Amino acid sequence: MCGVSGRIYYRCKPSKRRMPIGKRHVTASLLSDAIQLQNRGQQATGFVVGFSYLEQPYVPWKKIGSASALFGKDSEAKADTLIKRYKGNLGIVHVRYTTAGESSNEAAQPHGFKHGGRSVVIASNGDIPLYTKLRRRIVRQYGCRFASKCDAELIVNLIGVEIFEKGMDEIAAFAQVGSTLEGAFSLVGMTPSGKLVGMRDPWGFRPMFWARNEDGAMICSESSVMASEFDEVHEVEPGTLIVISDNGEEDVSIQRFAPAQPSFCLMEIYYFSQPNSKYKGVSFDELRYRLGEETAREWFASGKPIPDIVAAMPFSGGPAAQGFIEGIRKEANTRGRNVVYKNRHGLGRAFMSKLSDRADRIRANLDIIPEPVHGKAILLVDDSIVRADQARWVCPELRNRGARAVYYAVTAPPYRFPCFFGLNTPESKLLIAHGRTEAEILEAVPGLDVLHYLSLEGSMRVLGDQGFCTACFTGKYPMPVPNNKREIV
Ligand code: SF4
Ligand code: MG
Repeated sequence: MCGVSGRIYYRCKPSKRRMPIGKRHVTASLLSDAIQLQNRGQQATGFVVGFSYLEQPYVPWKKIGSASALFGKDSEAKADTLIKRYKGNLGIVHVRYTTAGESSNEAAQPHGFKHGGRSVVIASNGDIPLYTKLRRRIVRQYGCRFASKCDAELIVNLIGVEIFEKGMDEIAAFAQVGSTLEGAFSLVGMTPSGKLVGMRDPWGFRPMFWARNEDGAMICSESSVMASEFDEVHEVEPGTLIVISDNGEEDVSIQRFAPAQPSFCLMEIYYFSQPNSKYKGVSFDELRYRLGEETAREWFASGKPIPDIVAAMPFSGGPAAQGFIEGIRKEANTRGRNVVYKNRHGLGRAFMSKLSDRADRIRANLDIIPEPVHGKAILLVDDSIVRADQARWVCPELRNRGARAVYYAVTAPPYRFPCFFGLNTPESKLLIAHGRTEAEILEAVPGLDVLHYLSLEGSMRVLGDQGFCTACFTGKYPMPVPNNKREIV
């Protein structure tokens, strides 16, 4: 999973070779975008800026580390240095998250394809399932060299070959590659002639938005990052390419390169996207609240026991737990309390950490608030369970602290199969629900008495069946995927 953002400011005068008075360079805004996008990736961060009116090879800056660590509050001097050194009215930024293999500066994005004094660069969110096959082909045919196993490096090489080896028009090259690639790619790019590009695969697995005002335009993975700056934020439709030049507000072109086959990632709704970003005009927070209500309805309909206390698994389970409490309030005298404490300044998102660190991170990040627990039946609400590392720590810990019973409601279906479209979930054997019935999952979590997952039908009742990817819940992949998950670097 990754986050991307791209920006362009208008009306830069080539003759003056400088920014018009009152116009800003994009660098400071891009660094701020990266900080705001960190829910989508904290392991590597990178950006590239340039001038839309100068032909130059773009030179990315990228490093292992979260945006906060690299240029956040405690690294302001570093941010200042970067802002002074990297100037331009056009730029893209990327935050990266990997769970397997090694992270390296080379694998960090953006990636570029350079030819003479020109280049094309992209930063992408998503995965190409048949990556290995495509990479082998392009190496054989064109002798392309790779510094990493990152999907974006493959995509930019495919685009670069079309532009620089075959002489194709730069925008046609993006469209051509977009129309032939199977996989998840919501990407931002900078063309050799200085245009900002956004491209979203025909399935639209990953979110992507664009907006413009009198100063410039922006393309971004999270609508929340754009909301304070732009009055109107639009979705980049699946299968379309948006091209924005520096000529002003009118100079935006949107073209369809493939028919849409909507398969938006359900995990973006359950868990991943920022709560204040939107899906079809409704905030993810609101959707998670409604999913929580629906889960409570299913809990009661299946005759499960009534808890004394309902608590959210922090932080992402918060809206779902509020919805669940609302759903249960009508039926029982149950109260909502904080029971599980999570350190905001702790060791970071356990989901994004390497397997070897994860247990330590969970222990260091989580604690139990004792007062509401003793002698009570506690129901924990979480937005999703992938490996169940947190549940395996929290449930027995609640019993140790005197809980009478521990229940768990998950406002998503069981996550049973690996994702090949950018969530980078691990091999099947590490998924708690893979090959297990709900009864067997219950057995696998010590200290847990009752478990309920929201059904897929229940989710669709809330969300409307508008074309979602359900592969990790059903095993039905919307395109061919390899037998084994390739190593991710
Ligand atoms: Fe999202 Fe699951 Fe589909 Fe991956 S497999 S895109 S996580 S719904
Ligand atoms: Mg969680």
